[in-house]
Amino acid sequence: MMASRRKTRAIHVGDVQIGGNAPIRVQSMTTSDTRDPKATLEQIAELADAGCEIVRVAVPDRVAAAALPDIVPYAQVPLIADIHFEHTLALKAIAAGIHGIRLNPGNIRKHEDVREVVMAAKEREIPIRVGANFGSLPPMSREFVDEMAESNLSQVELVAEHMVRTALGHVRILEDLDFGDIKISLKAFEVPIMLEAYSRMAKLNDYPLHLGVTEAGTPKAGSVRSAVGLGTLLAAGIGDTIRVSLTTDPVEEVFVCYEILKSLELRQHGATMVACPTCGRVEVDLFSLANEVDEYLKTIKAPIKVAVMGCVVNGPGEAKDSDVGVAAGRGKGIIFRKGKILRRVMENEIVPALKEEITSILEEDEQFAEWREPKDTANV
Ligand code: SF4
Repeated sequence: MMASRRKTRAIHVGDVQIGGNAPIRVQSMTTSDTRDPKATLEQIAELADAGCEIVRVAVPDRVAAAALPDIVPYAQVPLIADIHFEHTLALKAIAAGIHGIRLNPGNIRKHEDVREVVMAAKEREIPIRVGANFGSLPPMSREFVDEMAESNLSQVELVAEHMVRTALGHVRILEDLDFGDIKISLKAFEVPIMLEAYSRMAKLNDYPLHLGVTEAGTPKAGSVRSAVGLGTLLAAGIGDTIRVSLTTDPVEEVFVCYEILKSLELRQHGATMVACPTCGRVEVDLFSLANEVDEYLKTIKAPIKVAVMGCVVNGPGEAKDSDVGVAAGRGKGIIFRKGKILRRVMENEIVPALKEEITSILEEDEQFAEWREPKDTANV
């Protein structure tokens, strides 16, 4: 059952609002070398084109920081600089016009340096994401271990509480400097741990939460793991922005993010394909047909639902929720809209007929009006 969304304060990364009443935002991270502005801008453009709303770039050293003035002003979406330990990199990123910073203030040795970054971020109204990743947690302190000794917490709960306290330590440093433009992340590869950590943090304050399962893995396994972790929290009303971390082209991450959000009906984004798994009734190569339609649907921006079903007997009925679909039989197909049969076509005409129907639905149906390309009237 879907819970109502946790109330969070709104923060802004450039012109993109996170939290408050904003939709759950989709983020990714470039894999290019930030020292190469051309390659980085190309990847940012690909991510933006896929629907990524905020892109994080690693800023590992001074050369990367020096490249930011050649990247930030030319990016189609707001950028977040990912910085570890060195406060001067954060200052350079802020000076270059970056829209957000990912930085744990507790990892910077001198308080004066943290203060300098926070003042610069405050002046430019740039939010800071703090957090704790399970993979890079500091050791548990003696006080924490003693305090927890009587608590009967399970190992998962104990680690999650340690993550929460670590992240809150970073939050407090910022709050003590009167800075509240904060977003928190608590990522782990182990789904039970990240579920527990985010659930605990969600009860403690109103900062927006950035959800992620770290090092989730290759596209197949990583997408499933991320969907379970992110989906569980989102269904519980927790989460304001998400990233799916996959060992592949980050454009894939954006696709998976939207599939998770679409599955929970939290966002609309592009076409959705309904396809049957096939069974003993199927008499066509439905896998090839579905893949061909799927490729075409990637070009559609409107949230139309398209079905590709494997038999005429059950296809239209099983997919009656879809805006349009095909039920394929031996050598032929039936094109239907909302389960109502429109016409029969030969097998080689299925894809063109489906494309034709999709085009006319997008032109005729007012619910898709906002996704129509503006008509060129110059020669009219
Ligand atoms: S639509 Fe037909 S082929 Fe596909 S799973 Fe259902 S019964 Fe089987």
